[in-house]
Amino acid sequence: MTEKKKQPTRPKLPPWIRVRVGTGTGRGEVAAILKELNLHTVCGSAECPNLDECWRGRTATFMILGDHCTRNCAFCAVPHAPAPPPPDPAEPASLAEAVARLGLKYVVVTSVTRDDLPDGGSAQFAEVIRKIRGRSETIKVEVLTPDYLGDDLKRVLDAGPVVFNHNIETVERLSKKIRVQADYRHSLRVLAEAAEAADDSTAVKSGIMVGLGETNEEVETTIREIRGTGAAILTVGQYLPPSNSHWPLDRYVEPAKFAEWRDMALSIGFERVASAPLVRSSYHADEL
Ligand code: SF4
Repeated sequence: MTEKKKQPTRPKLPPWIRVRVGTGTGRGEVAAILKELNLHTVCGSAECPNLDECWRGRTATFMILGDHCTRNCAFCAVPHAPAPPPPDPAEPASLAEAVARLGLKYVVVTSVTRDDLPDGGSAQFAEVIRKIRGRSETIKVEVLTPDYLGDDLKRVLDAGPVVFNHNIETVERLSKKIRVQADYRHSLRVLAEAAEAADDSTAVKSGIMVGLGETNEEVETTIREIRGTGAAILTVGQYLPPSNSHWPLDRYVEPAKFAEWRDMALSIGFERVASAPLVRSSYHADEL
């Protein structure tokens, strides 16, 4: 009888990717508050490698509009459902309460995509921003939204986020295969419309992952196209597949290449760039 070999979830991590795992008190406290207020974080749902570091530092990226997404991106660990429950009307106030209890000064709010809702959930985004800022004018809110355009986009911008983020995620050639229900050009339009509509107090941001099968030239083209929309902040990070059933890893990119992309992005006009293996779109967002 031959012994069945266990498939590794992903190729062995290279030496430059070391995720620190710990169980600091901050993490437990954040988790308890989130549970009590029935809130979700992208940190747990997306199996982020920086979870421990962020939670110990008492920061969290809140995920609104439920914990099931109407889309099914091939890289994403968030569960899929065609018609999730309606938005929780108590969510904006609960989230503001969590922010106050955790003493956060900078908050990142993202969501699943809700193609089943007429406004895509944009009114809930706006209400969350207003409720948080209602607690204290000095708290800054960054949003990472689905591909809103027109009134939906305007509704979110009018609520006054300090950063409006929409991720392109990958290069154009791979986009349709990986972000199945999304569109690369549509996402560029979102960024361009946001940069056009936003006032001076809101910066526009986007991000991509590498290691999905793209070439270095395609990464550079994508960085240039994002900059062409007027976006001022960029993140570039290493893709790590959440499981064997997700989009397979193509390569680990060396830190020196990330540094090259950072320098290149700064040279074409980005004001802030985070480009490194463990960078995620909301990683150290307050510092960016
Ligand atoms: S739209 Fe966002 S949350 Fe939904 S599957 Fe894609 S990456 Fe995940």
